[in-house]
Amino acid sequence: MPDATPPPAPDERRERLEALRTGALERLAALGRSFDDVVAAAAGANTDDEHDPEGATIGFERAQVVALAARARRTVDEADAALDRLRAGTYGRCEVCGRPITEARLQARPAATTCLTCATARR
Ligand SMILES: [Zn+2]
Repeated sequence: MPDATPPPAPDERRERLEALRTGALERLAALGRSFDDVVAAAAGANTDDEHDPEGATIGFERAQVVALAARARRTVDEADAALDRLRAGTYGRCEVCGRPITEARLQARPAATTCLTCATARR
């Protein structure tokens, strides 16, 4: 499949990765706040789980917030690693086959470390 999108200026790639990183950090901050809300709700609620159906809901909400926060943190790490690769000049190269990752894929997933072929093969 030919990649029709022209390669962007290096700055554009850095900005894209920084936007990804900033977005994930903001999500993390927002999740931190909602985690506090869940904990506060749990503290305010009747803590007798057996007789309080709220107990299970709060546990579920807390697990969801924790999972979302873990994902946001991973995105921050991936963006950091991609920014390192950008500085090192290896950004946009598939770490499995060494071929360039298409610009379309990098736009969709700025922190991608593999080309679409290798990502698909790995699954
Ligand atoms: Zn590859």
